[in-house]
Amino acid sequence: MIFNPTPFESYTFKDKSIWIKRDDLISEDFSGNKARKFEYFLSIDFPNIKKIVSYGSNQSNAMYSLSVLAKMKNWEFIYFCDHIPTFLKQNPVGNYKYALQNGMQIFTTNNKSYEAYAQKNKDTLIIEEGGRQKESEYGLKKLALELKNDILKNSISNPYIFLPSGTGITALYLQKYLSFQVYTCSTVGSDEYLKKQWNMVEDGAKKVPEILNSKKKYHYGKLYFEGYKIWQELKEELDVEFDLLYDPIGWIKLLENIDKLKGTLVYIHQGGLKGNESMKARYERKYDKIDF
Ligand SMILES: *Cc1c(COP(=O)(O)O)cnc(C)c1O
Repeated sequence: MIFNPTPFESYTFKDKSIWIKRDDLISEDFSGNKARKFEYFLSIDFPNIKKIVSYGSNQSNAMYSLSVLAKMKNWEFIYFCDHIPTFLKQNPVGNYKYALQNGMQIFTTNNKSYEAYAQKNKDTLIIEEGGRQKESEYGLKKLALELKNDILKNSISNPYIFLPSGTGITALYLQKYLSFQVYTCSTVGSDEYLKKQWNMVEDGAKKVPEILNSKKKYHYGKLYFEGYKIWQELKEELDVEFDLLYDPIGWIKLLENIDKLKGTLVYIHQGGLKGNESMKARYERKYDKIDF
């Protein structure tokens, strides 16, 4: 399967004209950032492989996308995580629910046993947490080339790219293949964590993305009223639904710095909407009574 180029759309948000790369629209089942990262595995045959093994959180976007990949390839999918809450087991939602529907076998274990498991099985492909591996470069390079084309075709002068980071791998590879400045922000750990990830994947990269910061500290997976508010504003003004884990922090940090950034914003929509089902439920429980 080869992905078609995704739409590149122009919007106005808070009186600024911006562009959004709609990677949420790659396809119904296989979309967003993880589809780009795993495109490599779709692009070639693996005649000896019968299983995928991976690990990470029990609601991760990568977990769901791997379940789709395994289904498309007719592979078994074995996934390790450190815990599954009883409530989730009894009431499956979001990525967890849909990955199970695709045949995922999930186990709780300490995070090293997946390696031992895969070593015993030569027919097994190991995928690092969140797709933090070299193979991701294949699909992300294609995204960079698409962006180059989109920017040229629309005669955008002085463009800059923004996307929120988890591992930072996407931002790193986009910067590798683009001459425009790529800005990002951390959502998972500190800025030091991001830089460490970049060194692990590409030691001595010529140019790395620039990290934007905010006055307030944000913690991964926590709920923030101001994040939910921006997410709703985007939905209303643009009629575009963003992800609720990375994008709210991304937009908060971007807007805090936007007056310093000269040029035209190109925001990468990295999908993740299947995961919104569980995030929305959490937000609604917390902020139900607040009127915007
Ligand atoms: C995985 C993911 C990210 C983070 O990508 P990294 O390459 O790990 O920085 C951001 N947004 C969404 C929706 C994702 O699924």
